[in-house]
Amino acid sequence: MTNRITKARFVKSVININDLPADDIPHICVIGKSNVGKSSFINKLCNNNKLARVSKEAGRTKMLNFFLVNDRFYLVDFPGYGFQASGKSFDEIWADLIEKYFLNRDKIRQVLALVDIRREPTQNDIDMVDYLYINQIPFTVLASKADQVAKSKIPNHLNTLASKLKVGKDNIIPFSSATSLNIDRITNLIFEKLSNSSFE
Ligand code: GDP
Repeated sequence: MTNRITKARFVKSVININDLPADDIPHICVIGKSNVGKSSFINKLCNNNKLARVSKEAGRTKMLNFFLVNDRFYLVDFPGYGFQASGKSFDEIWADLIEKYFLNRDKIRQVLALVDIRREPTQNDIDMVDYLYINQIPFTVLASKADQVAKSKIPNHLNTLASKLKVGKDNIIPFSSATSLNIDRITNLIFEKLSNSSFE
């Protein structure tokens, strides 16, 4: 079956956890350090080059941004972590918002955790994946900017990521917003996760 994203619009930014959408629409989360390619991914996935720009506007970088997609689910754009080169594993504001958000996890269908395919995962990346795993939040790792490595080297990079992040290789999908590599596969994954949990 071919799933297509036909419409997407920005709904709101949330800084206070009490302002989360009150409806029952499921959430698909997009998470990762700043500059990993989150905005480019959201734009590519939704076929709208301007969509995620809103999340880059001043003051919105520490917020959860909600995009309503196909009137069916929210794509929840997380603030990019790893701004501060401090000894802390998580930026405090980030951690506070995210922890509160994940307490209300009944609407979360999948977290898409972006890491850069070219680099060793940072401690923040590792902490993020550990957090999702320990808290049993369903997630898939997406390895961004796959166009930047030779096709023949992609499996090596995935192996490195899998061992550092301690996830199975099958739980990592390389993708590129520049070439659209695996964007359809990720779209299908999202719809599959949405329909798998429709009985809930
Ligand atoms: P964000 O901070 O995570 O939202 O990252 P952006 O989407 O703004 O991307 C950060 C930088 O990486 C920008 O210069 C993008 O053009 C670049 N970028 C994003 N995705 C890709 C990709 O798939 N391939 C390549 N080569 N560059 C990318």
